[in-house]
Amino acid sequence: MTNYLSDLYIDGQWRAGSEGKTFAVLDPSDGSELAQFAIATEADCLAAVDAADRAAAGWAALAPRARSEILRSAFDILTAEREVFAEIMVRENGKAFADALGEADYSKEFFRWFAEEAVRIPGDFRMSPAGDKRIIVTRQPIGVSLLVTPWNFPAAMATRKLAPALAAGCTVVLKPARETPLTAAYVVRVLERAGVPAGVVNLVTPVPTGPAVAAMIHHPAVRKLSFTGSTEVGRILLQTAAESVVNTSMELGGNAPFLVLQGANVAGAVEAAVVAKMRNGGSACTSANRFYVHSSLAAEFSEQLVAAMGAYTVGPGIDTANKLGSLVSLDERDKVADLVSTAVAEGARIVLGGQKLPGGAFYQPTVLTDVKHGSTINQTEIFGPVAAIVTFDNEDDAIRMANDTIFGLIAYVYGEPDAAFRVAQRIDAGMVAVNRGVISDPAAPFGGMKQSGLGREGGSEGILEFLEEKYIAIAP
Ligand code: NAD
Repeated sequence: MTNYLSDLYIDGQWRAGSEGKTFAVLDPSDGSELAQFAIATEADCLAAVDAADRAAAGWAALAPRARSEILRSAFDILTAEREVFAEIMVRENGKAFADALGEADYSKEFFRWFAEEAVRIPGDFRMSPAGDKRIIVTRQPIGVSLLVTPWNFPAAMATRKLAPALAAGCTVVLKPARETPLTAAYVVRVLERAGVPAGVVNLVTPVPTGPAVAAMIHHPAVRKLSFTGSTEVGRILLQTAAESVVNTSMELGGNAPFLVLQGANVAGAVEAAVVAKMRNGGSACTSANRFYVHSSLAAEFSEQLVAAMGAYTVGPGIDTANKLGSLVSLDERDKVADLVSTAVAEGARIVLGGQKLPGGAFYQPTVLTDVKHGSTINQTEIFGPVAAIVTFDNEDDAIRMANDTIFGLIAYVYGEPDAAFRVAQRIDAGMVAVNRGVISDPAAPFGGMKQSGLGREGGSEGILEFLEEKYIAIAP
């Protein structure tokens, strides 16, 4: 068995939980145990916040260039260790090796990008309209930040928060998902090797999660909660944060529509659709969930999509020949299988796949046609390799259906450029990908409208989430 880091990291020390308890981390492709990870007690979690609080003033006072160079060094380490990094993700998450390499590359870019942003924090200086004072607006680190992350992108969802928080001068406590703590521990170790001082980054893994996270949110030193995960848990955490008026950033669930407009190039649309659907095995908040295809193209589109998704080889992600790995757990696999059964009961037709596969948490690439807008699968985040196709006859209907959801994270529009741009402007989503299947870029603001979230990560906006404005008035 490989030796994975499986301890808590508090105040610069790797250590067991104070009750000495652990939980198992499993490889979902075969159910084998990868490690026993330390369980953090509530007291351990609060000790992590205390450590972050003690380290806060020193880290905030460090020159931006010094913070920047530490982040740049983390980027360099992850560049050199790309394959090792990817393998940890494959083992505990189940994803295909190519997806893990993609995530390794994406996640390290947040360190490079925010190393560059750390030295460019903007401020303002102007005369008041009455001429009686100068208005100085400075930005200071918001303070100790609690970062809570999901299992689907165990590295990128952590670095997308760690990098801007550290660049802004905040100290942090990272709470990764229970399914994928090994990747988080590896990232934290990289930051330690890059020169992050003791107490600046802390890692805790409480079980159960809710009470310990609530206790940390209520700790008076915590000023920020940055959460990525389901809308359901996001709502609970927003309520908890409200009690202490803690600032929040929320990256929540999605239900991305993929529109194929009349006159679209079908081969191009299918190519983008496959990427939007199958990246990360469909376990992505950005994953195309609802395909709305103009009726004149529907037969050709589904035929070509079936051919492309049917060509995916399924099996353990560690074997690079497999393009689709396993889901993160048997429970997640069963949720996907149940959604497909419900879809069939509600009138959908399976034209590809539709079966669990033996040996681990595997599910076949699946295409459903005759799906009704408003049906269960159409209104639920699938989080698996299942494409559900609805047809439409006119553009206004397609836009209305695309917007008819509580979510608004991302949408994909494929069509002739003018038409696609016209439609993109009318979609209620924080991000719209026009004639392409991938949108994520560390240099662009990532985030959702409606119940998909609050705030943005990445881009020039990402660092602002960890900074607070201060207005100072002085004599003119
Ligand atoms: P989840 O909401 O179940 O868990 C996310 C994190 O919250 C985990 O660390 C989990 O341990 C913790 N958590 C769970 N219950 C909690 C509670 N009561 N109190 C405090 N913390 C709690 O989400 P998941 O299943 O890990 O991830 C999948 C979800 O994440 C999907 O809905 C997906 O769309 C979303 N997601 C969103 C984005 C985005 O950027 N918008 C990115 C990736 C994933």
